[in-house]
Order: sequence, then structure tokens, then C-alpha cells
Amino acid sequence: MSKTLQAIRGMNDILPEQTPLWRYFEGTVAGLLDGYGYRQIRMPIVEFTDLFKRSIGEVTDIVEKEMYTFEDRNGDSLTLRPEGTAACVRAVLEHGLSGGGQVQKLWYMGPMFRHERPQKGRYRQFHQIGLEVFNLDGPDIDAELIVLTWRLWKLLGIRDAVTLELNSLGTSEARGRYREALVEFLTAHLDQIDEDSQRRLKTNPLRVLDTKHPETQAVLVNAPKLADYLDEESRVHFEGLKARLDAAGIPYVINPKLVRGLDYYSKTVFEWVTDKLGAQGTVCAGGRYDGLVEQMGGKPTPGVGFAMGIERLILLLETLEQVPESIARQVDVYLCAFGEQAELAGLTLAERLRDQVPGLRLMVNAGAGSFKSQFKKADKSGALYALILGDDELAQQVVGFKPLRGQGEQQNIAWSALADHLATCVVQG
Ligand code: ATP
Ligand code: MG
Repeated sequence: MSKTLQAIRGMNDILPEQTPLWRYFEGTVAGLLDGYGYRQIRMPIVEFTDLFKRSIGEVTDIVEKEMYTFEDRNGDSLTLRPEGTAACVRAVLEHGLSGGGQVQKLWYMGPMFRHERPQKGRYRQFHQIGLEVFNLDGPDIDAELIVLTWRLWKLLGIRDAVTLELNSLGTSEARGRYREALVEFLTAHLDQIDEDSQRRLKTNPLRVLDTKHPETQAVLVNAPKLADYLDEESRVHFEGLKARLDAAGIPYVINPKLVRGLDYYSKTVFEWVTDKLGAQGTVCAGGRYDGLVEQMGGKPTPGVGFAMGIERLILLLETLEQVPESIARQVDVYLCAFGEQAELAGLTLAERLRDQVPGLRLMVNAGAGSFKSQFKKADKSGALYALILGDDELAQQVVGFKPLRGQGEQQNIAWSALADHLATCVVQG
């Protein structure tokens, strides 16, 4: 017996009922980013494994246990990208886009792959929209990234449901000093912290701050604070960012435990979180990574960026019922033709209307059929109006114009007047 074919667990089809909402979301973000002068970049989905090991860090969750890594036919180790920053930096270096201190404001969108436990808001193939800015080191650009997401939340109608959490990780030297103090403190409390944290203490001690384990959290209350170890430069940078957010009227909370999962961050880190989605509450996250480009073989180049999870934001739009009604309808007009002559005339008429009425969404009946069956299909298409073309209409060079959603009576309209009529009642209406 053959097994039913199935998609891979945690990798979802996005069905036609859902794609209008995705396109609305993606279109809204793209339009917003155009308005801020960001330019899109598209990177491959597969890269050499080494790229992610070198950029994300060997002892992070992603590299340790979440990557889809395989050998290709040449024996090269390749990985499905788990995030976008590494590939973006690789592309920027490879094409010399950051040379000579050039500023780059880039964005990308697409699928990412992580072998995690699938659950609501957490998948193995998921989608991100990410931004990366190169060669700007001031807090003004950190603020711009936050300001533009704040505008996005307003455009999407979800501003009240998200909170901005902020922290500064300082320079790598400051973080190094802090790491020592934290390790010393946690080593003295080793028997009170959970096993996973004991392991992290050896590999990536700052990640202990991220623990969900209540007993470890209790121990951490008295742990040394990163803020007390911040270097002067990072402190001034952080103050500069906060001043700008205050000026823009953007509320935030300082979360001293926010350390982020990736190794490459420095100074600013931030997350937009919501309490409306259960455990998977971070919808957008990022920060500054001034050391990354150099770490990947380039000249020292400041960088800052973030990525938002499209699935979580779509879930949030649905949860808050912020799905605009207008995106559900995908057909404005459905053309029914009865008989061979009418079908031929219908084809030319439809093409002419497409020339004349930009934005018109016109579906032409295919597969002939009786009055009853064509009207049924017209209704099911969601169209507002049916155009009817039979022998009588053909002889008079008119179409029957039939409202399908109770907006008045059926009437005949001359072919020559049809484009104007549709432009007023469908495209503008
Ligand atoms: P989390 O703590 O939820 O695992 P993360 O810190 O691993 O998130 P990032 O690498 O910062 O996530 O990715 C940015 C955003 O991408 C996240 O805030 C989230 O919205 C989304 N995201 C990350 N992993 C997944 C996933 N497995 N499924 C769906 N969305 C995800
Ligand atoms: Mg994660």
C-alpha cells in the first residue's frame, strides 16, 4: 500500500485562502521600506555550512541543533539558511557593497529553516522579513529601525498589542568582563541552577540569562548586572537611542536579561513582544553587530538589523481581527458567455476591458455551462458583478450587468460604455 504523500512536519503550505493576507502583509512592509529608502536584496536559500558556523557562532542553539545541513553531490557541506544576516553580510562582502564606508540600507524576505519542535508560531520552515544597515554606527540608525517598525505596527493595526524591549550588550570587551563576573557568580551557585544552564555556563554563559527555568531565574535575581559593566561608549550610545525613542514617543521597557540567541550582537539589542500569541511572543528581533563583518573576513564595518517573523505577525493580525475585509475578495467581475459566438465575443471584450481598466480583476467563465452553472460559479468566485453575454446581447452589442451582492437591478450596458462603468463601480467603488 502506498503511503499518502505529505509535506514535512513543520513546513506548511500557504493555501489560496491565506495568500491574500500574506500578500497584504508583505506589500505593506515593502511599501513602508520603500518610503524609508531601503533596497531589497535576494540571497540564495542554501549556503556553505561554514558561513553560519562562522557568523552565528558554534555554541548557539541554531548551530548546535537546529540547522538543516547536508552534503551535496560534490561532497560540500551545505545548509538551508536558518536566518538572513549571515548570507546578507556574505553578499555585501562578495560584491563590495560596503567598501569605502558606503552606507547600505537593505532588506530581504523569504523562508528560513530551523529544526525546532513545531508548535503554534514555531515552524521548521518559516518566513522572515529582515533589514540590515551597514556603515552607520550611531544610535540614530538604531532608532530609525525601531521607528519604522513602530509605524508598521500602526499601519497593520497591532500597535497596542506589542511592547518594545531594549537592552545594551556593550562592546565585546565589556561583555567579556561581565561574562567573567557572571561565570564566577553562577559557579558559586552551581547546585541551584538547572542542567541546561550548567551546560550553557561552560559554552555560552550569557545565554543562561535567557533561561525559562524558575529556580535558575530566582538565582539570577542576585547575579551581577550587565548594565554595571557597560563601557562608556556603549552607555552613551544607549542613552542616545533612548533619547530618540523618547522624542519619537515610542514606549519601551529595559530588559536587562535580553541577550538574544546569536553570538554576533553588540551594543543595542531589542525585541518586539506580544502577550497575545502564547509562548511564541517575539514577533521581531534584532540589534547591532559591529564586529560581525570583520569576523567574516571584511574590514571593520558597523552593522545593525532585525528580522520579523511573518507567521507570528499574520497570527497576530488574525487574533486581533485586523485582517482588512477588502483583501478577501479576489475577483471583481465574472463574465458568463452562452454559446460559441458569445464566447468569442466575450474573449475579445474581456481583453479590451483589461486594456482599458487598470486594476480590474476579471474572471472569464471557462468550460461553458448552463445559466445555472455559470451563475453558481460567478457567485462562488466572490465577484461583485456578473457580465452576461448571450445571443440577444451580442445582437445589440450590450452586456447584461448583474449585481451579485444585492446592489440594485440587472441592466444592459453598451460595450462602448462598459469600461467607464466598471472603472466607477468596481475599481474606484
Ligand atoms: P525564538 O526565541 O522565538 O526562538 P529567535 O531568537 O530564535 O526566536 P530570531 O533568530 O531573532 O529568533 O528570528 C527573528 C524572528 O523570526 C523571531 O522573533 C520570530 O518572530 C521569528 N522566528 C524565529 N524562529 C522561528 C520559527 N521557528 N518559527 C516561526 N518564526 C520564527
Ligand atoms: Mg529560536
